[in-house]
Amino acid sequence: MLLAFHNGRILGESGIECDRTLLVRDGRIESLGEATKVAGPVQVIDLEGHLLVPGFIDTQVNGGGGVLFNDDPSVNTIAAIARAHRQFGTTGFLPTLISDDLDVVAQAIEAVRIAIRQGVPGVLGIHIEGPFLNESRRGVHDASKLRELDGAAAQLLARPHGGVTMVTLAPERTTPQFIRQLSDAGVVVSAGHTNATYAELQPALAAGLRGFTHLFNAMSQLGNREPGTVGAALAHEDSWCGLIADGHHVHPEVMKVALRAKRHDRFMLVSDAMPSVGAALKSFVLNGRPITVANEKLVDEEGRLAGADLDMARAVRNAVRMLDLPVEEALRMASANPADFLALRDVGRIAKGQRANLALLDDEFHVLRTWIDGRE
Ligand SMILES: [Zn+2]
Repeated sequence: MLLAFHNGRILGESGIECDRTLLVRDGRIESLGEATKVAGPVQVIDLEGHLLVPGFIDTQVNGGGGVLFNDDPSVNTIAAIARAHRQFGTTGFLPTLISDDLDVVAQAIEAVRIAIRQGVPGVLGIHIEGPFLNESRRGVHDASKLRELDGAAAQLLARPHGGVTMVTLAPERTTPQFIRQLSDAGVVVSAGHTNATYAELQPALAAGLRGFTHLFNAMSQLGNREPGTVGAALAHEDSWCGLIADGHHVHPEVMKVALRAKRHDRFMLVSDAMPSVGAALKSFVLNGRPITVANEKLVDEEGRLAGADLDMARAVRNAVRMLDLPVEEALRMASANPADFLALRDVGRIAKGQRANLALLDDEFHVLRTWIDGRE
């Protein structure tokens, strides 16, 4: 089936364009160009002047729609989270498991494998955040679950499931050899919940460490004599940095400083979403402890932030309003940049050959419609 999207503004590779028609055939983008007559049956989609953008890609999604991946790492949970985030423009995501026992990690990988095989829309793989973390930077992760990353764990993480695997680890809780082994197996390794020094991060980066998870949060900070993980992330040109742009996790001025330090195509917006996104929840339970939802902020009993009450559309709005970023850049931080980080070549852009994963936005960047593989 051929779809023709017209009468809107479309964010293509060279920016936002008007008077273009996007043709999608069998779920893939065929062309973005001048309106021409096409042969055969075609379904015309009127964008009514709105902005069509690549669907958002979120590399860090713990939950949504009232459910938490850790509570029940199953296909049903993944589908519920996907559904909740779709209404906010997310057409690709990594269900994210926070620190847990290795048998739960194995269960989560298996659930993702089945979800991908069954075609649950939007599932690109899995993000395993921990348990190979530094206790002193654990945030709300359960200290009793934390452990070193050894050979057996590396083998589990490299288990194929049909999608991409991202692992957040503290480099000081493993060796550059294991990072190299994971990276060679195609696992996307990111540093987070880490107290690593600048010097400790250099061999990790050389071994294939590809990014930094929720930059500034739960990591050694930039100091005058010790650059810390933040300094290493900002000084390293090619690695990617996740940003939780909710205005609570990182002060907007600090995010602006980071953006001045490093090329913008190496930043990606993440939601770090919890069950509250897409659900009217006042509280939920994490690791057996209550988390309160108040004013777009999630806190445990000690006032620590416990993930975010953030969706990708709001992250994009915040990036434009709080960080003064051009609209195109904010949108790429939610699509092309995370796709590049994950080394996925057929999502994240409106360009020939890409999967037709799309979101239609109004002037305030609220999501009106979404499509995955050309299906609304
Ligand atoms: Zn975290």
